Amino acid sequence: MKTALYYFTGTGNSLAVTRDLAIELQDNVEIIPITRIIQAGPVYSNHDVVGIIFPAWLHHIPPVVEEFMAKIIVNDSYIFAICTYAINPYNSLFDINAALEQKGSKLTAGFAIAMGGKYVLLKDITFSDEENERRFAEEKKKIKVIANIIKEKQQFGIEGSFDTNETRQLVYYHKHIYKVHEKFRVTEACTLCGQCIKICPKNNIKIINANVLWKENCDYCLACLHWCPKTAIQNGELSPTCRRYHHPSISITDIILR
Ligand code: SF4
Ligand code: SF4
Repeated sequence: MKTALYYFTGTGNSLAVTRDLAIELQDNVEIIPITRIIQAGPVYSNHDVVGIIFPAWLHHIPPVVEEFMAKIIVNDSYIFAICTYAINPYNSLFDINAALEQKGSKLTAGFAIAMGGKYVLLKDITFSDEENERRFAEEKKKIKVIANIIKEKQQFGIEGSFDTNETRQLVYYHKHIYKVHEKFRVTEACTLCGQCIKICPKNNIKIINANVLWKENCDYCLACLHWCPKTAIQNGELSPTCRRYHHPSISITDIILR
């Protein structure tokens, strides 16, 4: 059975889940970073099993995953998705199913896994180390169950709770009213190391005349803020008081190479 695991990750949660699942599935698994293939044209997949693994962002799929869903072409594959989330996956897995239905296909199984949180803009959705450890332990258990469902190509429902109006407004608010990209700033702790430029999946950060600058092409993943080695990146009034988070098994090199 040939399996493709397409993943997108910001803080490393979805990459950690992808790797854990690949270990459980054991053989003939190809791990493919979405950001590495998205620039090309259509994405043809001739795998028997196709998995799409990503974080929920503002209750939906990240824009880069939306772009990927528009490009992927699958045949008769068993298609599943896993969404990592902090509070609730909400519409994310339904978004994947809707994108597949437009191509005459559908999601056979949609799983949601609670992981460490990273949202620090309008409220603090990060957790204590103890709570993160509890979530990681639950994730390991759930991945084993998911792997068995996939190996047997079982039908499964779509986890999450579908909500139409409020959540779309949330995306609009962050992009056009709060304007995430305009709120970024660096403190004097910045060493101009350039890591944030390499981390950004949208090539949205540049350094000009010793100033770190954000352009408008931000997908508000907050990877730059959480991975800055000097905790020098802030956004809005709340972030200076919030914890920084990334998955402990994922390195900054993993993120740069994703
Ligand atoms: S990663 Fe942090 S320290 Fe390095 S250039 Fe960016 S803001 Fe400055
Ligand atoms: S600028 Fe920061 S928040 Fe925006 S897409 Fe790049 S890494 Fe993500």
